[in-house]
Amino acid sequence: MRNLDFQKLVPAYVQGFESYQPSKPDPELMKAYGVDHLHRLNNNENALGPPPEVSTIVEKFPVKNVPVYPSGDCFYLRQKLAAFYGKTPDRFLIGNGSCEVISSVIKAFCEEGDNIITADQTFAVYEWVAEFSGFEARLIPLKNNRFDHRAMLDAMDENTKILFVCNPNNPTGTYWDTETMEAFLDEVDNRAIVVIDEAYFEYVEKEDYPDGMTLMERYPNVIVFRTFSKMYALAALRIGYLCGTADIVELVSRAHIVYSVNTLAQEAAVAALSNDGTFIRETLDMVGEAKKLLCGLFEERKLEYVCNEGNYLMVKVPLPDTLMYRMLMRKGIMVRTMTTFRFPNWIRVSLVQRPVMEAFCKAFVEVLDNR
Ligand SMILES: *Cc1c(COP(=O)(O)O)cnc(C)c1O
Repeated sequence: MRNLDFQKLVPAYVQGFESYQPSKPDPELMKAYGVDHLHRLNNNENALGPPPEVSTIVEKFPVKNVPVYPSGDCFYLRQKLAAFYGKTPDRFLIGNGSCEVISSVIKAFCEEGDNIITADQTFAVYEWVAEFSGFEARLIPLKNNRFDHRAMLDAMDENTKILFVCNPNNPTGTYWDTETMEAFLDEVDNRAIVVIDEAYFEYVEKEDYPDGMTLMERYPNVIVFRTFSKMYALAALRIGYLCGTADIVELVSRAHIVYSVNTLAQEAAVAALSNDGTFIRETLDMVGEAKKLLCGLFEERKLEYVCNEGNYLMVKVPLPDTLMYRMLMRKGIMVRTMTTFRFPNWIRVSLVQRPVMEAFCKAFVEVLDNR
């Protein structure tokens, strides 16, 4: 038998791609760092947990449903979303996390020679999926921590299929106001698809923040992404969705894996949308309080920080971010190092309950003072 020659079988763009290294499970990390607790401030999870309506569904999930395939097109959830947003069910496509719908959109619209446009310092999955699929990702530098709409338009050519706008941006929390978004969409002028990733939509309370769900009725090239992972705290269940015109949704569904969204996730998502909003209010209050506490500390210590929308902020630390990470881990605090987001020596911190934020502040100050 001849030797297996990977080089011949694997496309250059896959060979050149570095695989993502996921974090170890919490118990392994706790052992490695010698701590008996771990506060997860690394993934922008909602530490309050899901709305109470979800708990009932999760706790009472019938074992007899385990062998049964889920609804292949998330029938009831799409009905629920349709009622929730005042649109029809055929406007929604559900994925195994919104990461999966990112992938489906790129597969549906891009072919050899095409490119996508997004920012250099944003959620990296747009760039990754494009690149490991063999498409060029044009990464436009942020301007004052915001997506630069002028430079993104200038980077467009006839092979540009999709522009990804993370609004508000992870990790800077900045957003395009309605005026900027409309001016951008007017200039794109239906030449390409515009994805507005609104993973943190429910966290933004600003008057001038545009609602992609409304805008898309005037701009048929707009696709909005939302997720149940962040505000609704269903991250473990992996469920997110996109909304667009019925035609676009039908097209993207051709490139989408059927049955990728499990039954429990579908039912939990329906339950989450049934909450009357009390849960969102409580989360927003928690995040607001955490912002005040942390920004106060950063001001006092004269540290550069970026705190805008969303349940996270970033701070620049006077030591390597990976070292900061390890020092905080030894105190039971897990943050996100930002070198991978192209913010060397910054860390991102998720905003959670006051006692945990106080524990973060204490640990952070100890690390700074005992270097
Ligand atoms: C977390 C996040 C997502 C996706 O999350 P899923 O868990 O895959 O739904 C998408 N976009 C941004 C900007 C995010 O921060």
